[in-house]
Amino acid sequence: MIVRVGHLYPEYLNIYADRGNIAVLTRRAAARSHELLVEPVTLGTPLEPGSHDLLYVGGGQDREQAMIAPDLAERGEAIRAAVEGGAALLAVCGGYQLLGRGYRGRDGTWLAGAGVFPHETLADETRMIGDVLLESMLAEARGKTIAGFENHAGRTVLDEAAEPLGRVIAGYGNDGASGFEGCRVRRALGTYLHGPLLPRNPWLADLLLSWAVAHAAGAEPEPLSQLPDELEAQAHAVAADRARARGGRPA
Ligand code: GLN
Repeated sequence: MIVRVGHLYPEYLNIYADRGNIAVLTRRAAARSHELLVEPVTLGTPLEPGSHDLLYVGGGQDREQAMIAPDLAERGEAIRAAVEGGAALLAVCGGYQLLGRGYRGRDGTWLAGAGVFPHETLADETRMIGDVLLESMLAEARGKTIAGFENHAGRTVLDEAAEPLGRVIAGYGNDGASGFEGCRVRRALGTYLHGPLLPRNPWLADLLLSWAVAHAAGAEPEPLSQLPDELEAQAHAVAADRARARGGRPA
């Protein structure tokens, strides 16, 4: 199957090796004889709802977020339609913030968002930095753990009825207080977790891939064949131990 990926603003939003998530999706797709076609979507590039099976956006500093935010906000309708149409989506940190209703930076500037996720983000003086461990709240993967790294000034407040990605076992998460991290709308997942995220959480990579393959095939998602993920399992265990040891405490 050819899986079409739209990589939003790769030259602006890519910190902590976030583009590594694309490399992992590409390799895990190939291991199942699927081919990922990755198309950069940047300032002014047309975006047709439905033309991608998976959309991806990484994290970035306030400066880069300000550079792309107006362009991204204009695409809100197209991205919401893509998600409504069953496309998969992964948004990390700064990209996650701007796929909500908006982000107020430390300088007080309000960056209107794309309105895909039911949340808003307000930056605070102190940054929340460190290793994170979550317990997945996804119906497809209850109880599985997700390990990564966070570094953000933004506090993301989910709407009452919003669905978090996970419960925080160690780390700060969305706002350092609610005990939740990330957000989910249909097959769109938002998270603060860098690392990159997917190499140390292969089940999450496969879940996103199974959604993208289903969208490409116009079918229901099927679990992908199991891969021998020894290295990934070790990477996850090391990250999880680090998070338990020091996550959520000022460095
Ligand atoms: N600039 C945003 C913040 O500080 C996002 C940072 C990031 O993507 N790591 O919260």
